[in-house]
Amino acid sequence: MRVSKLYAPTLREVPAEAEIPSHKLMLRAGYMRKAAGGIYTYLPLAWRVLHKIENIVREEMDAIGSQEILMPVVQPAEIWQESGRWDVYGAEMWRVKDRHSREFCLGPTHEEMVTTLIRADVRSYRQLPLCVYQIQDKFRDERRPRFGLMRSREFIMKDAYSFDVDEAGLNASYKAMYDAYTRIFTRCGLKFRPVEADSGAIGGSGSHEFMVLADSGEAEIVYCEKCNYAANTEKAELHVIETAPEAAQEKQIVATPDCKTIADVCAYLKLPVEKSVKAVAYKSEKGLILCFVRGDHEVNEVKVVNTCHVLGVEMADEAMLTAAGTVGGYMGPVGLDPKKIMIVVDQSVMKMHNFCCGANKEGFHYLNVNPGRDFTPTYVADIRLIQEGDACPHCGGKVSKARGIEVGQVFKLFTKYSEALKATYLDEGGKPKPMQMGCYGVGVSRTMAAAVEQYNDENGIIWPAAIAPYHVLVVPVNNKDQESVQKAEEIYTQLQQAGVEVIIDDRNERPGVKFKDADLIGYPLRVVVGPKTISTGNLELKIRKTGEVKMLPLISDYVTTIKELLKTL
Ligand code: ATP
Ligand code: MG
Repeated sequence: MRVSKLYAPTLREVPAEAEIPSHKLMLRAGYMRKAAGGIYTYLPLAWRVLHKIENIVREEMDAIGSQEILMPVVQPAEIWQESGRWDVYGAEMWRVKDRHSREFCLGPTHEEMVTTLIRADVRSYRQLPLCVYQIQDKFRDERRPRFGLMRSREFIMKDAYSFDVDEAGLNASYKAMYDAYTRIFTRCGLKFRPVEADSGAIGGSGSHEFMVLADSGEAEIVYCEKCNYAANTEKAELHVIETAPEAAQEKQIVATPDCKTIADVCAYLKLPVEKSVKAVAYKSEKGLILCFVRGDHEVNEVKVVNTCHVLGVEMADEAMLTAAGTVGGYMGPVGLDPKKIMIVVDQSVMKMHNFCCGANKEGFHYLNVNPGRDFTPTYVADIRLIQEGDACPHCGGKVSKARGIEVGQVFKLFTKYSEALKATYLDEGGKPKPMQMGCYGVGVSRTMAAAVEQYNDENGIIWPAAIAPYHVLVVPVNNKDQESVQKAEEIYTQLQQAGVEVIIDDRNERPGVKFKDADLIGYPLRVVVGPKTISTGNLELKIRKTGEVKMLPLISDYVTTIKELLKTL
């Protein structure tokens, strides 16, 4: 390829909405253009990177026996109605009607599609296990599309689905996929970490997310330095905190004027915060949910959703609180009816003695509240959000927090969809049984952005060689110097013939402009050819990642040297 012909229009100014490096750099360097919010065109450089990621994904999927198919983007509403998800998927689902007013959606994911496909074709245990995958555009009308390709509304995903006869089979399929994902992200050159992920009502260790470690990541993870434990903070389980026994004191109501926060209350009453309980109120499709945690703890919404078996939660409004007989800032579990509203109490609160909490009355709190005696929860559960320094749920060591970009997820579905959609097979005894399913996604376009997030500097992108759009840029520094231009062309042809992905900057530009663009675009290697090359008999080779410059004698086998070097980048 010749830079003079390359369709990669660079930008001097990037739109203010581009906040993170990958978004800014891919616009500036001419990798992509925005068509609408969260919807992008991939230009040739990006498309080459995406192909490389896709090929790595393909090779690893094929290697574990998953077979590539392509399902339609446009999916009929009926299959989603059958699984029950048509009404619960919400506004994220892109719904469309055909000319006959029949309803469809643009696939946000393909569990319904693949399960109805397989149920029609697979009848016997002899046809199982089976695993299929596809690489395709997915559509999700995200509430906040942002960060360019990180959270877009149309994006490329590899999604795979496994079908097994039993749980042992599912576990084997899951393990194979987990290992394939580890190889995929390693081959892409990324620094990543698999973490335990929330698996909804299913619970257990039914899901892992693959997180690329980056400060701009939207996900928060915790990990333990002592053991190998790592989890999405949403999922991280916590042990119950025991407190020393105390004789129960008499419950007392006290005035706490103008004390809206738990810190105000503790300061006013001169109580340690560990002696207080605070409340967070949510609304859900099943009504109000009042959650109680220790004053210095935070509520984990995902755990609340799983505990209460609701679809989702949002902050409750004051009208709901009034109707429930309480008031914002002064909520407490005492005197509320656990059958009318969901009172969810953190497991560690149940171990506290003589604590302080709201009295459900403006300006008042209770002192000396005791679980068992003074209130009845609807649910007692672990609903706390893990914090830096908390005890590791596996080994008791201290956990640390980090930010990550979720580039992939593996998930055991068990029989969730096969039961809802009646995907059964006949076992050896001729008895129908639901298939055991798993689903596995890689965000292909997000992976490209994550790589840029992890590898960039003030000058631009620094691609790992495995996914770079081109490996080597040859730069003739002086277009007027016939001899060196000819040498550059020669080297370009030689590298090309040796199978190196090479591009030559044949533009009639100053060397500075060429070098700047090269750094911005992020080619792993740059070969400079000028009059000095001819006079000294040495090629100048620059490694983008380290800035290191090497001199390669023209009489040496520099093609092999370059190829070997690329394997290490
Ligand atoms: P998130 O929590 O980030 O919204 P998700 O858990 O809903 O993602 P999955 O359903 O697990 O996503 O999809 C599989 C993969 O697709 C994700 O791991 C992620 O890499 C990618 N992905 C999901 N949503 C988007 C998006 N809006 N833009 C780009 N990639 C996405
Ligand atoms: Mg996910």
